[in-house]
Amino acid sequence: MRLEALRSAVLEANLELVRRGLILYTFGNASGIDRESGFVAIKPSGVPYEKLQPRDLVLTDLDGTVVEGALRPSSDLATHLLLYRAFPAIGGVVHTHSEYATAWAQAGREIPAYGTTHADYFYGPVPVTEELTADEVGGDYVLNTGQAIVRRFAQGNAPLDPLAVPAVLVAGHAPFCWGVTPADAAHNAVVLEAVARMAYYTSTLNAACTGVAQHLLDRHYFRKHGAGKTYGQEKN
Ligand SMILES: [Zn+2]
Repeated sequence: MRLEALRSAVLEANLELVRRGLILYTFGNASGIDRESGFVAIKPSGVPYEKLQPRDLVLTDLDGTVVEGALRPSSDLATHLLLYRAFPAIGGVVHTHSEYATAWAQAGREIPAYGTTHADYFYGPVPVTEELTADEVGGDYVLNTGQAIVRRFAQGNAPLDPLAVPAVLVAGHAPFCWGVTPADAAHNAVVLEAVARMAYYTSTLNAACTGVAQHLLDRHYFRKHGAGKTYGQEKN
């Protein structure tokens, strides 16, 4: 069996989503990439999480050709692959229909950076894509979902850095999250759901809330990220 460590990491990321209550039945999937070979390990389609074994994960190349595995890959494979191609710094992708993040996606609203919990993980609002057109949905829908995400990150004068904003809401659908590793992607998905829940309460309690000030956003984000970070322990 190839890429056993990657398979285990992807399995663990899938199970973490279940443990944290982000997954209903089989709605969700995690994947990871080995950048050296360009192979991606992803959850098989429709297999209950409690039965998943490392060997059940499907290995594909970046074009979606199955390299190893007897089961069909997740139906969201083409979105994952496009994100790996467009964002070379990421190593794991997670998709869930977690309740609060999905509510924002369905409302077509980005999640504003209302406080420091958000700022610790997301440097600015969690963006929402444009709605897919009828042609995009009727055509290669799963690939077009990825294209909508990539377009959203490239839009405007200041393109978003996918590592500074490691999540997106697909309008009318649900979130996709990512990270440097599959574990990191799952962690970001769990935090996104908590942030989305808090943001829902915040906007309900104070509809006029405009969010955290730039200096507080900077203070919190850069405390945990970048060259000057001071959070946690030095790595030897
Ligand atoms: Zn979905």
